[in-house]
Amino acid sequence: MSFDYDDQNIFAKILRGEIPNQTVLETEYTLAFRDINPQAPVHVLVIPKGAYVTYDHFAAEADDVEILDFTRVVGKLCADLGVSTGRGDGGHRLITNAGRDGVQEVPHMHVHILGGRGLGRMLTAG
Ligand code: 5GP
Repeated sequence: MSFDYDDQNIFAKILRGEIPNQTVLETEYTLAFRDINPQAPVHVLVIPKGAYVTYDHFAAEADDVEILDFTRVVGKLCADLGVSTGRGDGGHRLITNAGRDGVQEVPHMHVHILGGRGLGRMLTAG
């Protein structure tokens, strides 16, 4: 299996500081920022700083430390953003679109954290 990473994608440009972003949390390996077109009151994108196209690419090839950091950042953000499932918060949805069938717009691995309202059923057609 091989994955082709296009370093001209918009999130690569954000990571290089060529495009501004509203950072929510940054670590050595991970960056989280507000989605430019939010679909819910809480809509944050979490990306690894490494050059991974999709979640399966990341899972297959990232170092353990990158995966651990990414996972902990997602958990911390759910708490910080008030969409945890702990302490009576309302919960959230994590989405990671991948490839053509997943209708991925930006080919740099990212997880959407969505919450702050009821999000409806998981999938719509089309
Ligand atoms: P995808 O369909 O690839 O899962 O989602 C890409 C997301 O990136 C979309 O929700 C879109 O609104 C967001 N997005 C696209 N360009 C930019 C940008 O320049 N800045 C930010 N913050 N978000 C972006």
